[in-house]
Amino acid sequence: MDSLGALRRTHTCNELGPDHLDREVILMGWVLRRRDHGGVIFIDLRDRWGVTQVVFNPERNADVHAKAHRLRSEWVLAVRGTVCRRPADMENPKLKTGAIEVLVNELLILNVSETPPFPLDEDIEVSDNLRLQYRYLDLRRPEKAGNLIMRHQAVMAVRNYLSENNFLEIETPMLTRSTPEGARDYLVPSRVNPGKFYALPQSPQLFKQLLMMAGMDRYFQVVRCFRDEDLRADRQPEFTQIDMELSFVGEEDIIRIAEGMIQAVFKAAGNIELQPPFNHMTYDEAVQRFGTDRPDTRFGFELVDLTETLRGCGFKVFNSVIAGNGVVKAINAKGCATFSRKDLDNLADYAATFGARGMAWIKIREDGWQSPISKFFSADEIKAMGEALGVEPGDLILFGAGPAAVANQVLAELRLELARRLGLIKEGTYDFLWITDFPLVEYDQKEKRYSAVHHPFTAPNEDQLDLLATDPARVKSRAYDLVLNGNEIGGGSIRIHRRDVQEKVFAVLGIEPAEAQEKFGFLLRALELGAPPHGGIAFGVDRLMMILTGSDSIRDVIAFPKTQKATCPLTDAPAAVDRKQLTDLSLRPDW
Ligand code: ASP
Repeated sequence: MDSLGALRRTHTCNELGPDHLDREVILMGWVLRRRDHGGVIFIDLRDRWGVTQVVFNPERNADVHAKAHRLRSEWVLAVRGTVCRRPADMENPKLKTGAIEVLVNELLILNVSETPPFPLDEDIEVSDNLRLQYRYLDLRRPEKAGNLIMRHQAVMAVRNYLSENNFLEIETPMLTRSTPEGARDYLVPSRVNPGKFYALPQSPQLFKQLLMMAGMDRYFQVVRCFRDEDLRADRQPEFTQIDMELSFVGEEDIIRIAEGMIQAVFKAAGNIELQPPFNHMTYDEAVQRFGTDRPDTRFGFELVDLTETLRGCGFKVFNSVIAGNGVVKAINAKGCATFSRKDLDNLADYAATFGARGMAWIKIREDGWQSPISKFFSADEIKAMGEALGVEPGDLILFGAGPAAVANQVLAELRLELARRLGLIKEGTYDFLWITDFPLVEYDQKEKRYSAVHHPFTAPNEDQLDLLATDPARVKSRAYDLVLNGNEIGGGSIRIHRRDVQEKVFAVLGIEPAEAQEKFGFLLRALELGAPPHGGIAFGVDRLMMILTGSDSIRDVIAFPKTQKATCPLTDAPAAVDRKQLTDLSLRPDW
C-alpha cells in the first residue's frame, strides 16, 4: 500500500472538462469500474462529486500500467496525470467530465478492498437489511449520497433563513421529562438517582415555550425527537424536526414565516420556485370533502355525504348504519365503469384493511345503473344521488358507510388508491395546503376520556373558553398543519399562556390538579411569572426530504436509519448489556 505523502488532490472527480486540457492534475477516489481494452486500462474513478475516467497506457508508462492491473472495485487511489480530450467516439455526454480523460503518470494505491457484498455500480435487487448493514457502501452510490447532499442544502437554507429573521438556534436537553406528543417515551435510567428515569424528548415543546418565557422571542432548532411507536414506511424511532417558537404573534405571523422558510428550502435544495401564500382549508371542510385532515388536493374524487338523501332507503345495510348515527358517503370515480369484477373485489379488499365491511358500488351505464344494490333505491333516491355526485354514463360510484370516522377513512384511502391506479398524480407537482380550525380535543372511546388533538398546550379558540367546561368537543383550537401532496409535513399552534386556561384544558383532558402539578408544575409556575403570548410550529425534516428527493421511504434520506423493527443492522443496536451495567442502574431484569 502506498502512503499519501505530500500528494494533495487538485480537483474532485466531477470537475475536469475541456478547459483543463493538458493540465497536470491529482485526483483521489474509489474504483467504480475497470475496463481492459487491449492493453489499455480504463478506470472510472468516483468520489462524492462524480466520476472521471482515468487511463493507464502501457506505452506511456509501463510500470504504472503494470501496477494498474491489480486494481479492483472500491480500491482507493490517488492518480497524477494529464487531462486529455477523449477520442470523439468515446465522449460520454451523460457525465459532466465525459469530454475528457486523465492519462495517468503516477498511481498510488491508498487502500485495497475486498469484493463488496453488493455491486455499487448497478442497481440490482439487494435486501434492505444488507444495504443497511453496509450503509457506508450504499452511501457511496451517487443517488444515495445525493439525498444527503440535498438534505444538507435544505437544512442550511433553514438556518440561514431563520437566522436572517432574528431567530436564535438554541439547544434543549435530550435527557428530560416526558413531553406528551401522544407516543410512548424512550426512557433512560438514572444511575445516580436509583429508580428514576429520564425520558428522551418526543419534541422540545415545553422547553421552547419556556424559552419564550425567558424572553428569547424567536427560537429554532434542528432537533432530534424520539417516539416509541409502531413503525411504518414514513416513521423512524428517532427523527429530526425543524422546531420553532415565536413570541407576540398570531397564527398568520407564524404561517408567513413558515411559508418563507419552505420557499427557501425548495429553492436551495431542489431549485423549485414556490409561490406562497399557500391555500387554507378548515379541518371540517377537509374531512367533509376528502375524509381526512391531510387531503391530497391534486385530483378530484371528492366525498359526497348521502346520509340525508338515503335516510329511510330500501337498502338495509345503509339504513341500519344511518339509524345507528353513522354516515353514508360516496365518491364518483369518473370514467371507472369499465372496472372489472376483479378490480372491484380488489378495491373492496383494500377498503377492508381500513375497517370497511364490504364496499358497495354502482356502475353508471348508458342503459341505466348497474349494481347488486341499485334495485333497493327509489327513482327519487337514484336521481338525488346522481345529482349530488354529478354522475354521467361511464362513471362508478363507490360507497363508504359506517361510523363517520370509518366511512371517511375508507373513502379517503380509496380516493388515493384510485388516483394511484389511474395515474392521476402528477410527479413533480407540489400542492401545499394549510389546515386550520382543528378541534381542541377528541373523545377516545377506548380510554373513555378526551385527548388533545394537537397537544395539551395548544390554545383553545378564545371565544369558546366557556364551552371548555360544558361541551369541550365543540371547542376549536388555534392549531394549524401544513400538508404537502397529502402528507402532513408540519404542525403547530398558538399556545396557552395563562395558567387558568392551561388548568382548564388539563381538567378537560382528565389530568387532575395533583397530577398536573406533579408533571407540569414547572410550566404552570412559569405561566404565572410573565409568560408572553406565543406560538410555534415544527416540520418533519425526514418526510420533507423524502418528498423533495422523490424517495419512497424516509430511510433513503437519513444517513443511518433503523429498520421497521427499530433495529440498526450496521451496529446491531439495540443490544444486550452486561448484568453489571444493569445493577449499576439499579435495574433487576427478569427476562
Ligand atoms: N411540538 C409539536 C410537534 O412535535 C409541534 C409544535 O406544536 O410546535 O408536533
